[in-house]
Amino acid sequence: MSEAGCESVDIAIVGGGIAGLAAAAALAGSGRSVAVLEARELPQTVPVSGDLPEDYDARVSALTPRSIDFLKQLGAWPAIEGARCCAYHHMTVWDAEGTGRIEFDAQEVSAESLGTIVENRLITAALAWKVQSLGGVRVLAPARLSDLSREDPEPVVLLEDGTRLRCQLLIAADGALSPTRELLGMRTREWEYGHRAIVTTVAFENRHQHTAWQRFLQTGPLALLPLSSVDDRLCSIVWSIEEHLADELLARSDAAFAKALGEASEYVLGNVTACAPRKAFPLRQRHAVDYVLPGVALVGDAAHTIHPLAGQGINLGLADVQVLAEELNTAFARGLGPGRMDVLSRYQRRRKGDNLAMMAAMDGFKRLFEQDAPPLRWLRNTGMRTVAGLPMVKRRIIRQAMGVG
Ligand SMILES: Cc1cc2nc3c(=O)[nH]c(=O)nc-3n(C[C@H](O)[C@H](O)[C@H](O)COP(=O)(O)OP(=O)(O)OC[C@H]3O[C@@H](n4cnc5c(N)ncnc54)[C@H](O)[C@@H]3O)c2cc1C
Repeated sequence: MSEAGCESVDIAIVGGGIAGLAAAAALAGSGRSVAVLEARELPQTVPVSGDLPEDYDARVSALTPRSIDFLKQLGAWPAIEGARCCAYHHMTVWDAEGTGRIEFDAQEVSAESLGTIVENRLITAALAWKVQSLGGVRVLAPARLSDLSREDPEPVVLLEDGTRLRCQLLIAADGALSPTRELLGMRTREWEYGHRAIVTTVAFENRHQHTAWQRFLQTGPLALLPLSSVDDRLCSIVWSIEEHLADELLARSDAAFAKALGEASEYVLGNVTACAPRKAFPLRQRHAVDYVLPGVALVGDAAHTIHPLAGQGINLGLADVQVLAEELNTAFARGLGPGRMDVLSRYQRRRKGDNLAMMAAMDGFKRLFEQDAPPLRWLRNTGMRTVAGLPMVKRRIIRQAMGVG
């Protein structure tokens, strides 16, 4: 439907990253008209093996079994599996300052894997392809939101090319700096972690053994994530480190960086034999005070950003989308509209507590491991060894990290 100079849809999603595209796929069959608008070009196809780029995306996600189940429900997972990804069955976490060490294994909870490492560009491509093949979703890309207004009381989105789009529900999935959230004046609580995350793809001398390795250094955690089952020496690294040290590491030559990485990982996988270009991301914790307003819902990084030390950011974002779609589909079955505050409040109630708990846990870990005081070092090393000897507690931690706790 359209009135002069203004088009209408039931649900407009701003942002075609992983969260926004998952929301579009989840709502495609809802019987409501849906539009997703994304500032960048979206991929039209998912590369298949044989046709894959040689280089790996420096941005990867450790997807939990819960997120994978959701991507299966959306029909996007087979395309990801058909391209490339790497399941990990074990996880080893250890403290650089002491003897604390803990191992987790999928068998402890009778699961096939603890999670799967996937390049972000493949998740996006699989979801974009699914959304475009489903029909029922209007995809506007590239299309950039430039302003927002409300007309009795429905949100009206203004795009940079002058298009106006009126909707009953506006889903903001436009990332950590969410222009939608800012334009609506929705407040956040934020603080700097004082860390930057350096990411890149590296080859090690030894096989990764389908294990995610994480060493907690006082300057920040370093993760080595298994990236390929075919070339099982390839890992993606996420090295979160104090800002000034990040600058210094970024300025180093590849050889000097590889040496520093080998030392920081205690040569757990041997020497670093090759290293792709590095990228760095500032890390800041951010949490929206409210996820919803009448006719508006925030999902994914627009609602919360979290330290990547446990690889939970987009897993929380996908859980937001899953819950929001469930609440909306229940409302539609009862003949209710998508922008109603009672419907949106149920989404907020179901997600906020979980997100806050995960954010608090990540913040606590980060603070605990950056302490040098001997009593705290003793506490965390003893804590790790104690938990390692308590199978029930370990199983609980594993299930929580897998998103099925
Ligand atoms: C180093 C690092 C490692 C990480 N590792 C993991 C991990 O292992 N596991 C995990 O779960 N999470 C991880 N995360 C977090 C994860 O990457 C994010 O949570 C996730 O990418 C957020 O997805 P999103 O779709 O919410 O937002 P984004 O990916 O930021 O997508 C937002 C989209 O909105 C679009 N947009 C913005 N403004 C506009 C506008 N005005 N108009 C139209 N479109 C707009 C953007 O172009 C973008 O495509 C990591 C994060 C970092 C920094």
